[in-house]
Amino acid sequence: MINKNNWSERINPVVRSIPPSGIRKFFDMATEMKGVISLGVGEPDFVTPWHIREGCIYSLEKGYTMYTSNQGLLELREEIARDLDITYGVTYDARRELLVTVGVSEGLDLSMRALICPGDEVLIPEPSYVSYAPATALAGGVPVTIATSVEEEFRLTADRVEKAITPRTKILLLCYPNNPTGAVLRRRDLLEIAEVVRDHDLIVISDEIYDKLTYIGSHTCFSSIPGMRDRTVLLNGFSKSYAMTGWRIGYAAGNSDFIGAMNKIHQYSILCAPITAQMAALEALKNGREGMRKMVQHYNRRRHLVMQAFKDMGIPCFEPGGAFYTFPDISSTGLTSEMFAEKLLMEEKVAVIPGNAFGPSGSGFVRCAYAASMEDLGEAFRRMSGFVKRNGVQSKIVVNL
Ligand code: PLP
Repeated sequence: MINKNNWSERINPVVRSIPPSGIRKFFDMATEMKGVISLGVGEPDFVTPWHIREGCIYSLEKGYTMYTSNQGLLELREEIARDLDITYGVTYDARRELLVTVGVSEGLDLSMRALICPGDEVLIPEPSYVSYAPATALAGGVPVTIATSVEEEFRLTADRVEKAITPRTKILLLCYPNNPTGAVLRRRDLLEIAEVVRDHDLIVISDEIYDKLTYIGSHTCFSSIPGMRDRTVLLNGFSKSYAMTGWRIGYAAGNSDFIGAMNKIHQYSILCAPITAQMAALEALKNGREGMRKMVQHYNRRRHLVMQAFKDMGIPCFEPGGAFYTFPDISSTGLTSEMFAEKLLMEEKVAVIPGNAFGPSGSGFVRCAYAASMEDLGEAFRRMSGFVKRNGVQSKIVVNL
C-alpha cells in the first residue's frame, strides 16, 4: 500500500536506488567554504579560446537562433567526420552516421537507452566515471564492474573482460584515457580486447572524451581497430579538449542503425543541440587545433610537476598517460579515502575526490585533477605536503613547485 503523503514512494525505484554522486558531495562542501583550492572537479581552468567565443557571437549577430536538424548542423557533422578521418583514418557518413548531442553525457544516455533491453549486462572497467553505472541502470541494464588495479597501471586487459562475460553481457564500455585514473591503453591492449569483443559479439561504447589529452604515446581510437567500427558507438565532445564544458556539445558516431535509433530518442527528448554551441564547435574544429595543442602542453607540464610533488611527499602515484587526473595511493597515511579528502578539505582547504567515489577498487586512492593554474597547484601541494607530514608520511624534500 502506498502511503499517500510519502511522495518519495511514488518515485521510480530505480531512480530512488541511485546514490548521489560522490564528486558533487565534495564539490558542494568545497564551494561553501572560503579560500578552498579545488583539485576536485574535472573541468579545464582555461576559458574557451577567444576565436571560438567570437565565432559564436558572430553567428548570433547573423541571426542563428533557430532549431537545427535533429542530427545537428550538416556542416558541423561534415567537419566532425573530416576530423575523425584525418586523426584516426576512420570514416563516417555525416548524413547517416553522426549525431550532434548535448555533451558526451547525452550521447552516453542515448546509446544506453537505444541499445539496452531489460536485464542486459554492461561491462564497466572500474574505477569508473561516476555516470556509467547510473546511466546503465536508468536504461534498464545491469552494470557489471571489472576491477582494474594500480599494479597493472589501471589498464583493462582482454583476460579480465573475458572473465566478466556472461550470457547476458551486451555492451563493453571503454573510457581511455581514463577518468579517474588517467590510465591509457596501448594499441596492442585494444587489439586483444577487440578479439574478445568479436568472439562474444559485444557492442562497445567508447567514451573518447579525453582522446586529445594524451601524453604518453599516441591514442588509438577503438573504432579504428579493424572490424570494430560497426560494433562501436564512439562518443566524443568539446568539453575537455577545447575547454568548452559549459557549452554542452558533443557527438556520437557509429553505424547508421545505432545512430538512427539514438536519433529517435534524441528527437523526442532534446530535439537538437543548441545552435549557438554548434556554431562554436564548428569554429573549434576549423581553427582550434593550435590552441588545443597549447592547452595540452600546459596540462603536461602540470602533470610532471604534480608527479614530482607526490614523489617528494612519499605518496606513491602511478604515472597517468592521459586526461588531467592523478590517482595517488594515500593508504600509507592510515586514512581512508573519505577521511583523507574530508580532513584535507577541513584542515588545509584543498579539495580532492575520494577514490571510492569511482567504485570500491578506488579505495585507498584520491583523485586530484591538475586542471588548475600553476600558482594554485603550487599552493595546494604545499598545503598537502604539510598535511601528509602531520599524518605520518615523511616528505623527502620540501615541495617547491
Ligand atoms: N565522460 C567522461 C569520462 C567524463 O569525465 C565527463 C565529464 O567529466 C563526461 C563524459 C561528460 O562530458 P560532457 O561535458 O561532454 O557531457
